Amino acid sequence: MFAYGGNTACVEVRCGDEVIILDGGSGLMPLGRSLVSLEQEDFNLFLTHSHADHLCGLMFFAPLFKNSATLRIWAGHIDGETVKSHIDKMVSPPLFPVTTEVFPGRFEYRGFKAGDALQLENEEIKVSTCKLNHPGEATGFRIDYHGRSFCYITDTEHVAGEVDQTIAHLIKDSDLVIYDSCFTEEEFAERIGWGHSTWNAGVELCKSAGVKRMIAFHHEITRTDRQLEAMDLLLDAAMPGSSFAREGMTIEL
Ligand SMILES: [Zn+2]
Ligand SMILES: [Zn+2]
Repeated sequence: MFAYGGNTACVEVRCGDEVIILDGGSGLMPLGRSLVSLEQEDFNLFLTHSHADHLCGLMFFAPLFKNSATLRIWAGHIDGETVKSHIDKMVSPPLFPVTTEVFPGRFEYRGFKAGDALQLENEEIKVSTCKLNHPGEATGFRIDYHGRSFCYITDTEHVAGEVDQTIAHLIKDSDLVIYDSCFTEEEFAERIGWGHSTWNAGVELCKSAGVKRMIAFHHEITRTDRQLEAMDLLLDAAMPGSSFAREGMTIEL
């Protein structure tokens, strides 16, 4: 068992009784299992972009095995029809044995433009978005609910020595930011254009925007628990209360 976990991007946000999902990576499989007994059967999932590590859990989302369940997928980097075509391609032979048609529950698609504010049925939940710097584009999200704010900023590349003002504006004064911390500073210098960032750049960005706490996310895939633990200590020293994401971690705001 790894202390930090090995699943790809998937985050659950609870606003009161309502569950919102961010990205459908392999972590969506254990999340789906934990949600299947809930009364809620209509889920909003905000997708940062269509890379496989953010989609590969969709066909294992247990509530879709129920008749009346709906998974509504929102995407800001391409229109809804194009997201549908990406998912249909992934969930069909030869990449997968069956198509989405066999699920009793259904997928729905909503396209928007990164930068738009999104309206959910529950009007107490406010969702704002911005464009991220990633190959093929990606979207960052901010969720405001009852005076608390949370942001999900992953799969984005910074410019060394600069604060991304678009992101800084979105995350301003928020309580918690999940931030793409894939690379170390040394690795980053050799991977310009790969579309990822460092925890150090995240701290600069969060401090400049008055953010209270940062969670480092999207760990580089070969990183060991020992390496992550060492980075965790450095991050906590640089921005107290911040840490590297661990699978199953729960934070109450
Ligand atoms: Zn990506
Ligand atoms: Zn990714």
